Amino acid sequence: MPLVVQKYGGTSVGSPERIRAVADRIKRTRESGNDVVAVVSAMGDMTDRLIELALSVAPDPDRREYDLLLSTGETQSSALLTMALKACGCPAISLSGALMGVRTDRAHSRARIMNIEPARIRTELARGHCVIVPGFQGVTEEGDVTTLGRGASDLTAIAVAVALEAPKCEIYTDVDGVYTADPRVVPRARKLHRISYEEMLELAHMGARVMNPRGVELAELYSLPVEVRSSFNDRSGTLIDRGDEMEERKHVRGVAFDTNVAKITLAGIPDRPGLAHAIFAPLADAGISVDVIVQAASIGGLAEISFTVSRADLERARAVVEPVASETGAQVVHSTANLAKVSIVGTGLQSAPGYAAKMFGTLAGQGVNIDMITTSDIRITCVIDEAAGEDAVRALHSAFELDQGE
Ligand code: ADP
Ligand code: ASP
Ligand code: MG
Repeated sequence: MPLVVQKYGGTSVGSPERIRAVADRIKRTRESGNDVVAVVSAMGDMTDRLIELALSVAPDPDRREYDLLLSTGETQSSALLTMALKACGCPAISLSGALMGVRTDRAHSRARIMNIEPARIRTELARGHCVIVPGFQGVTEEGDVTTLGRGASDLTAIAVAVALEAPKCEIYTDVDGVYTADPRVVPRARKLHRISYEEMLELAHMGARVMNPRGVELAELYSLPVEVRSSFNDRSGTLIDRGDEMEERKHVRGVAFDTNVAKITLAGIPDRPGLAHAIFAPLADAGISVDVIVQAASIGGLAEISFTVSRADLERARAVVEPVASETGAQVVHSTANLAKVSIVGTGLQSAPGYAAKMFGTLAGQGVNIDMITTSDIRITCVIDEAAGEDAVRALHSAFELDQGE
């Protein structure tokens, strides 16, 4: 039988009614002649609630216990969905992260999948079961439970589809597909019928949380087509694949927005070789990802370096750079958390002149000050004040005519 791998996000399994609706969709998929493996997220905001609970008993919870606690959200929803399937006469079994064979490294809360050994999944499919598995988790070689990072149930689903050599992976969520911008911020955003891995990856990295960036990366590596669809209706969704190189289309495909941005600036640092290394090596050693980096031209032999990190990492990053700053002779360390990134994404941006100018002009027209700018071949990103962010996204969406059909 053909194999279908599906993933259901938090809102899709957010209540008993929703779990029954998902069970019904899985049952229909099976009845139309498919084997089904479904990967599920925790119900609604369960993961946030578990995090709150952990922080209420310990300000800096033990990482191993924290992961064990967080993994229970997905364990709950997979058991509940399996019960709902069995109750409606569909043979099903749930497997824990360990039983389904997801091996990870030991980096708690941001573990990487080393390999998936899907023997048990295959056995259960051969026994005629739909197999329901929890996303977002795995086990180390020693059997300790790990979690893979926020939003990583998408990654689990794609990794399971790759391991089982499924022809594609279906991601069911609470919107009809991937839009030209977050439809909750831009009501005139349009659904994209198809998008390339490359463009999806940039949008996801820049804040379009509809797909987890590590999941997109893995799908691209194995050329696995991914379809993003709604679990609330039967409309067709968005196909993420290599894209059609020959297609004549607009250069800008989407606008992304991310408010999880904090900035640290070191000013008045004596400009000498090795300076950037002295600042960024300890941050890397502490496992802190740095995003946008801007070094201002040195004036009078004194340089200024600014960089962004996620808000959750701001205090840790400050604690790492403050001693470095005093060693290197920096005069000021300044930080701010109220920032956002807005990005325009599309293949062909780099080769076509005028996109940057249009983006900056649009932001200027809104009275928005640009704090930092960064680009890739297919993206231009501006760091701006968070308060101006949503209006800026809407203005860019209209300026690039994204509301006007493909
Ligand atoms: P799930 O729980 O199903 O994984 P998420 O909340 O992680 O769902 O992702 C879906 C949400 O992503 C949508 O509700 C939407 O608000 C948001 N989103 C952000 N950018 C986009 C975009 N470009 N297209 C569609 N949805 C987007
Ligand atoms: N439940 C996890 C989270 O909220 C994983 C996921 O939903 O993808 O981050
Ligand atoms: Mg998600």
